[in-house]
Amino acid sequence: MGSSRLPVSLRDTLAAQRSTSRRRLLELNIDLLRNLVFLLFLFRWSRKTYRHVRGYGLLGTVLGFSLSVKKTAYRLLQSAPFVRAKVQREKRVVIRQLELDMIPTGRDVVRHTALPSEGWSEERVREELKSLAGMVRPRWEEGRVSGTVYHGGEQLSRLQTEAFGTFTVANPLHPDVFPGVRKMEAEIVAMVLSLFNAPADGAGITTSGGTESILMACFAARQKAYKERGVTEPEMIVPITAHAAFHKAADYFNIKMHLVPCPAPSYKVHMPSVYAHINSNTVILIGSAPNYPHGIIDDISALSRLALRYSLPLHVDCCLGSFLVPFLEKAGFDADPFDFRLKGVTSISCDTHKYGFAPKGNSTLLYRSKALRAYQYSLSIDWTGGMYASPSIAGSRPGALIAGCWASLMSIGESGYVDACHRIVGATRDLERAVREEEPLRSYLQVVGHPKVSVLAFIAKKPAGKDEPQLNIYEVKDAMKARGGWDLNATQDPAAVHVAVTLPIVGAVETLVEDLKVVVGAMVEEERTRIREGRKKGKGTSTAQLYGVAVSFPDKTIVKDFAVAFLDNLYKAKPEF
Ligand SMILES: *Cc1c(COP(=O)(O)O)cnc(C)c1O
Repeated sequence: MGSSRLPVSLRDTLAAQRSTSRRRLLELNIDLLRNLVFLLFLFRWSRKTYRHVRGYGLLGTVLGFSLSVKKTAYRLLQSAPFVRAKVQREKRVVIRQLELDMIPTGRDVVRHTALPSEGWSEERVREELKSLAGMVRPRWEEGRVSGTVYHGGEQLSRLQTEAFGTFTVANPLHPDVFPGVRKMEAEIVAMVLSLFNAPADGAGITTSGGTESILMACFAARQKAYKERGVTEPEMIVPITAHAAFHKAADYFNIKMHLVPCPAPSYKVHMPSVYAHINSNTVILIGSAPNYPHGIIDDISALSRLALRYSLPLHVDCCLGSFLVPFLEKAGFDADPFDFRLKGVTSISCDTHKYGFAPKGNSTLLYRSKALRAYQYSLSIDWTGGMYASPSIAGSRPGALIAGCWASLMSIGESGYVDACHRIVGATRDLERAVREEEPLRSYLQVVGHPKVSVLAFIAKKPAGKDEPQLNIYEVKDAMKARGGWDLNATQDPAAVHVAVTLPIVGAVETLVEDLKVVVGAMVEEERTRIREGRKKGKGTSTAQLYGVAVSFPDKTIVKDFAVAFLDNLYKAKPEF
């Protein structure tokens, strides 16, 4: 019976019913879809929350939340007009001082902010260069500067300059035009691979410095995880003591970074926390051998086991350890395993421009295999400018620097590096012994962990009694500057000062210890008097003030403004205040 023969009213009823049921079906489907989306959301949200709580712990999660509430409160407070005006005023004072410290002023300063209309004579350029090199600065030659200048001696400097001269125009982007540079570059990589016990398939690249090496290692790991596992929300697990270059990598390549604590007394990365952060989005684990702040080598063996168990890349940052850690044993010191002999280690960064004594602008990045290295390659096969392929960030690169590096490695040789290791690490141990054993250092300073290489960090010891003074470690740093022109480094979390011993410092360690004793002794006396007389603590010296500000503002915006001002200053040809 066709519907056309039904009475009109019934037909309408049926049609209405049909459309209602269709609508109901549609509604049901939409409901289902909505529930599905909601469930998916709930799943992703709870997975994220679960991972967060698992990684940071319940306490860490609560503390993190309370910190973010505090930050918001501070931001609101600072935007109140009267607070903002005051903060802006004080900020200007600091920024102006920063500018005064960095940019030379005075009537006799001649500034060049446009091309000279006629080129200068060679003689005039030479004169000007000489006076630029002679500008007032810390005396690194006399061993007064921590780290910074990894000088290999006058003779080596001359040889490097000659190497530059021979290859001034060279660019490794064109290996056919500069076959000598290609050969040297490949040989540098081969030498460093052998130093770090790479397997037969091991491969590497040279880069412009430790930061580029680290950037490339993180980038390659991210690409690998994407291509092999489809990871689109990459995460990496980084010890808080690992170099800031990892933060830069996270920023540049959009990798979420989990910072893992490195607690006392060992100050090595906390392995249970590393484990707790591993999930399907993890693309790489990080360890340092040693780290910059305290010179501590993480437990690379344990990291290696974890990396193997979860089939994850493990990068070991030997940027600072460079040509010291591979020679520790040969130089007579004990060493923990850190290189490719640990099967889980997939990449290592080693700065030839630190303790390799190569000219600045040189570093290497090593991989366990050629396949791992290929993830960092950049290929533009369809480019209108022709097929283009380059191994790392830069396109054109300075061949002169590669020649300088090669010349350094060849002229120093294994025996030279073993000797340098012996002297540098030996001097660091002397310094450590003095801080641990000799008064007044023993009572008022404390060495951070058990450093085994070239860095010694110390914090202010907790006072033994109620009336005993506790020093501000940053004031110790500033007092050392005032007393002997010592340029030591401030580190934070915990507040510490560190010395990275270089060859120029080796000869100055005794004076360093003497000055440290005088400075600490005087500060202790002064504090005792202050306590006895019941006076309040003063404002503190400049480093103490700067780090004091950083601690007292949870959102750190003010300190970030200082940092930006500092960077702006780098490019000011004339003062702006
Ligand atoms: C110096 C250093 C780096 C980065 O080196 P740059 O050459 O300054 O980019 C990385 N890691 C550690 C531990 C370092 O000390």
